[in-house]
Amino acid sequence: MPTFAAPDLQRLTEEVFHAVGFPRQEAATIADIMVQANLAGHDSHGVIHIPGYVERIRSGHVRPGAAVETVHETSTTAVLDGHFTMGHVAASKAMQLAISKAREHAIAAVGVHNLNHIGRIGAYPAMAAEAGMGAIVTASAGGAGKLVTPFLGMQPRLATNPIAMAFPNPAGAPLLLDMATSAAAAGKIRLMLNRGHETGTGWIINKDGLPTRDPADFYAGGMALPLGGDQGHKGYGLAVMVEVLSGILARTGTAAKDRQDLNNGTFMIVIDIAAFLPLEQFHAEMAELVDYLHDTLPAPGQEGVLVPGEYEARNEAARRRDGIPVEDETWRQICDTVEELGIASALPTALA
Ligand code: NAD
Repeated sequence: MPTFAAPDLQRLTEEVFHAVGFPRQEAATIADIMVQANLAGHDSHGVIHIPGYVERIRSGHVRPGAAVETVHETSTTAVLDGHFTMGHVAASKAMQLAISKAREHAIAAVGVHNLNHIGRIGAYPAMAAEAGMGAIVTASAGGAGKLVTPFLGMQPRLATNPIAMAFPNPAGAPLLLDMATSAAAAGKIRLMLNRGHETGTGWIINKDGLPTRDPADFYAGGMALPLGGDQGHKGYGLAVMVEVLSGILARTGTAAKDRQDLNNGTFMIVIDIAAFLPLEQFHAEMAELVDYLHDTLPAPGQEGVLVPGEYEARNEAARRRDGIPVEDETWRQICDTVEELGIASALPTALA
């Protein structure tokens, strides 16, 4: 599989989205968030989506350059209408608005509806952490992307409804929890199929409701399971609460309706830490917590305990150094899309 330098993949992605009609700045935002997903090791949410996103633009589901409109606003809240722009663009604008409101009023919540896939959810609370704040972000699909069965059921009725939270960590990358509320993100099942691998145990069941590890069963009428294995009521419960925040409060609509014309609705809460305790004290207590967790006795055969977000930070360090691997099938599809757009000269040379 070819490997590429992150800035090269970023330039390519920016060229693609500029070529399909996004203003340069918005194309750069999309490219930044997509390649950051690859850097973090979440290849399921990175450049693998270029062909699919371009297809959604061609079919009119995504409207390049559509303005994000504020439909309701108070000093601490807002509901935005993304008018079907790319999710990365609308969600970034929503997060910037939430950060500026929280800076002024200590806490803010912003919901956005009518937008497409927002990619790696962790990208958005990470923006708040970079601004020295904490954030909680949820995303649902408003009746599209039904892949996950409710606990004890065998019918795909919910999307993978992710939740992400981030807080600044004085010792390094932010503390970042970024997870689907299904056992695995749907993109990871696709990745297993493209790589010819089995899925993990407890990720999926087949169309008859029986456990399987063959990703092909998922695409043959199967479905994903909620997070938690035989305790799946917890992942399922989180997914339902995400429906309330991103579906109802953000005005996206819930999974109770059927829709195929969008990918995500999102809800974001941003917290100004200084409204709760002096920043210096927050940093000291965060450092103490992280050290305490790292000090845990490792289980047999394990190297040690990580804190949330460390997986991504380690991947980023390695991939900035060694490049980003893109599996052959994914690269072939990206090349086809880029050539169809008539911008083949934007294709980078692989490092290896
Ligand atoms: P995952 O299981 O790979 O990681 C979940 C979390 O666990 C991360 O915060 C990670 O830092 C942490 N983690 C990983 N290994 C760890 C370890 N050994 N110790 C401690 N913490 C560890 O994530 P996932 O649920 O498969 O989701 C993958 C991606 O898919 C995420 O970026 C998510 O935002 C994205 N996603 C997006 C959508 C969407 O609709 N846009 C839907 C679902 C998921």
